[in-house]
Amino acid sequence: MKADIGLIGLAVMGENLVLNMESKGFTVAVFNRTVEKVDKFVAGRGAGKNVIGCHSIEELCASLERPRKVMMLVKAGQAVDDFIEKVIPFLEEGDIIIDGGNSHYPDTIRRTKYVESKGLLYIGTGVSGGEEGALLGPSIMPGGSPAAWDAVKPIFQKIAAQTDAGEPCCDWVGQDGAGHFVKMVHNGIEYGDMQMICETYQMMKEGLGMSNEEMHEVFKDWNAGELDSYLIEITRDILGYKTPEGEAVIDQILDTAGQKGTGKWTAVSALDLGQPLTLIGEAVFARCLSALKDERVEAAKVLSGPAVQFDGDKVALVEDLKQALYASKIVSYAQGYQLMRAAAEEHSWKLNNGGIALMWRGGCIIRSVFLGKIKEAFDTNPDLVNLLLDPFFKDAVENAQAAWRRVVVKAVELGIPMPAISAALAYYDGYRTARLPANLLQAQRDYFGAHTYERLDKPRGKFFHTNWTGRG
Ligand code: NAP
Repeated sequence: MKADIGLIGLAVMGENLVLNMESKGFTVAVFNRTVEKVDKFVAGRGAGKNVIGCHSIEELCASLERPRKVMMLVKAGQAVDDFIEKVIPFLEEGDIIIDGGNSHYPDTIRRTKYVESKGLLYIGTGVSGGEEGALLGPSIMPGGSPAAWDAVKPIFQKIAAQTDAGEPCCDWVGQDGAGHFVKMVHNGIEYGDMQMICETYQMMKEGLGMSNEEMHEVFKDWNAGELDSYLIEITRDILGYKTPEGEAVIDQILDTAGQKGTGKWTAVSALDLGQPLTLIGEAVFARCLSALKDERVEAAKVLSGPAVQFDGDKVALVEDLKQALYASKIVSYAQGYQLMRAAAEEHSWKLNNGGIALMWRGGCIIRSVFLGKIKEAFDTNPDLVNLLLDPFFKDAVENAQAAWRRVVVKAVELGIPMPAISAALAYYDGYRTARLPANLLQAQRDYFGAHTYERLDKPRGKFFHTNWTGRG
């Protein structure tokens, strides 16, 4: 019996993806660096299933149907390069190496070129949805050598999450690093979504003095409307969770956020491409600030905030928070798409924006009803410059705007930090402003550095300098 695909890396993601593939009718050959894990898996979770345990890469490659498809789900970084080197000698022209880990997209660009130079094909694919997604249907975002897609498509689209309409949350993203770039932006958006939810939690908890039970009810209500999403759903459950002893675990968790780097990569790539990805940037920095726990504890003893208590209408403010979250989320996705557009131009990728929304619609951490609306926006206008200009989202933000502003004003009054939600509002106000104060900025640059400026009354590309001080 030959296998349809080979998988290297039997950790959390690999094991579950193998079982997912097998359950959809594919035979999978498996290998792991620590070879004992292969036998353990085949005798354990893989017992009685169409899984071929292999004790060497040679054995793995020999057990595959042609074109061979070897997928790695190993730790991102050097391990991927090492396995590529080890696999290449056992492959033939047209065979495909797939990296399903969280690799940084410049590495995937480099690896695609390298593997193609050996007469082979390469796919770097984002896989999102964690352990459960890998087992039951993740969101899969493949990019790399276009010629590899036809051979991989039937497997990937079958194991991916499916929308209610039966569409797979997996489609071809684009050349070389495009798949991993889109996965990176997905993770950045995930940072933003999580931060915004945390800001509404902080306002309800500290500003309005609400209990976990009350907040649980709020998130339950929010999950039934336009905010319906996986992250709102798990927030509802987290706030409602108590141990059998009655302890609310949420109240015992140290307020120091970790990060593995994909949010930072997203923000750095936005800086590199000159794109205003302010919300995700603030979300990354909010995690950094949270990590300064000891400093914050000391500062809290010294630095004061406003001595103001909320004395307004709680129910009305909770409704405003929902609107503020919704509007900010629209801004976050608008910024994320703006970044992807810039990267596509830079790397000559032809990104299918509606297809990306569909890939994120199910299976992944940012899955939400909202993404269906984004798909519709790009289906209607594939060249949409900014999501905020789509009629549906333009109206949605306009409707939410007054509430959004009330929330930011209230947060400032109460001294409750809302970096992401307020950055989203500042972006909105900046983006809709035809004349920003950058005229003064240009004047300053010209004053101290003779950097020159363009004029409103002259053609673009003509530069002027003023001798501001009159000195020679
Ligand atoms: P992981 O902990 O990232 O990696 C463990 C696997 O990598 C094991 O098979 C391990 O082999 C192998 N490995 C580690 N260092 C190696 C090296 N230097 N040389 C060769 N093999 C090496 O596993 P994971 O959590 O399942 O994640 C796999 C990939 O998916 C990663 O890129 C991760 O970022 C990505 N991902 C993870 C999640 C998640 O929720 N966990 C979600 C999405 C994407 P040994 O058994 O021999 O140590």
